[in-house]
Amino acid sequence: MFWDHRLTQICKENENLSKYSTYEIGGMARFVAKPRCTEDIVLLLDLAQSSGMQTVMFGMGSNLLLPDHPDPETIYISMRDHIEVMPRGDLLYVSAGTPLSMLSLFGDLSGFTDYHFTFLLPGTLGGGVYMNAKYFDNVMCDYLDTVYYIDLDTPGRGIQSIHVDDCQFAYKQSIFQHQPWFITGADLKIKTAGAVFDFERINGYLNQPLVRESIDNSSLSSFYRFYRSYLASLEGGNKPVPEAMMNVVHDRTGKNHFDYPSCGSVFKNDYTIGTPVGKLVESVGLKGTARGNAMISPVHGNVIQNRGGAMAADVIELIKIVQEALHKSFNFVPEPELVIVK
Ligand SMILES: Cc1cc2nc3c(=O)[nH]c(=O)nc-3n(C[C@H](O)[C@H](O)[C@H](O)COP(=O)(O)OP(=O)(O)OC[C@H]3O[C@@H](n4cnc5c(N)ncnc54)[C@H](O)[C@@H]3O)c2cc1C
Repeated sequence: MFWDHRLTQICKENENLSKYSTYEIGGMARFVAKPRCTEDIVLLLDLAQSSGMQTVMFGMGSNLLLPDHPDPETIYISMRDHIEVMPRGDLLYVSAGTPLSMLSLFGDLSGFTDYHFTFLLPGTLGGGVYMNAKYFDNVMCDYLDTVYYIDLDTPGRGIQSIHVDDCQFAYKQSIFQHQPWFITGADLKIKTAGAVFDFERINGYLNQPLVRESIDNSSLSSFYRFYRSYLASLEGGNKPVPEAMMNVVHDRTGKNHFDYPSCGSVFKNDYTIGTPVGKLVESVGLKGTARGNAMISPVHGNVIQNRGGAMAADVIELIKIVQEALHKSFNFVPEPELVIVK
């Protein structure tokens, strides 16, 4: 493969994919790329096209099962270094790799509360748009104005944009799940009256070593420790600790979100069934079922945990066990929310 100087800076050879997903699962990949800016993405897509390589792009890997045996003809593109934030009139432009949870901190540092619901929500802006991430009644699409993307079928057309109204957003659904589009960023709405985005303060914050380190780390326990320490740093200061964020801490730690590597909920709920998948799994007695080193959480039936050294194949086996059991008992086959990368 042809390597130029810039590519050697953004593309690593022989990288373990387990470092790139909150599941901490994945084998040794021949190429992993970490673009820092949109020009890097264009360069990578050019390279992939000219050398006949496939690409798989992802954010924090918090809704993703990476393969045990990665394809040597694929470039795995992690977006976690692609971080850019800037005000654009009344809107806030945020690049695809920016952690969703950072949006809540930007708000706290700048005086807007709109994004407090993203506190401790793992994932990046790009992944959040693709999945239409939600936390209770707060849904990603309600905060978007415009999404920017590169069409992998026509990368030469450069960056294109699509207005939120045309993105076919629904429960855990978006147009991006049906098109070969690489999301590069989005313009977000700020609804808090009188909020002024403090550009310098936010960028200074983003460049702090501890912040960069947290962004580069997929471990859910480290993720939790970093954001919890942000709140701890407010305690005892002049400013009150935002109640909405403390509520998230209690809710998510109460649901054991950060105890083991996982990807959160494995299956989408089907609201026509009336009962959440987790409860159905519980009712057929599958909580605590293990295959290899993966286990259906003993606490929450819709979570499959990596108990240490699990393989993607173990998780896939448990997914099939749940689907078969629910089909047999309720004539309902739950659809995975988790994206399984072949
Ligand atoms: C402990 C825990 C709690 C969670 N809680 C919630 C919750 O409350 N609500 C919720 O909605 N989700 C939740 N999730 C799931 C997950 O955090 C979200 O779905 C998140 O939006 C995924 O973002 P990501 O960057 O990690 O995406 P990834 O997992 O990296 O990717 C997911 C999909 O998005 C695609 N994608 C990612 N970036 C791009 C891009 N730039 N362009 C095009 N496609 C892209 C990938 O190809 C993949 O198909 C939770 C997960 C965990 C581990």
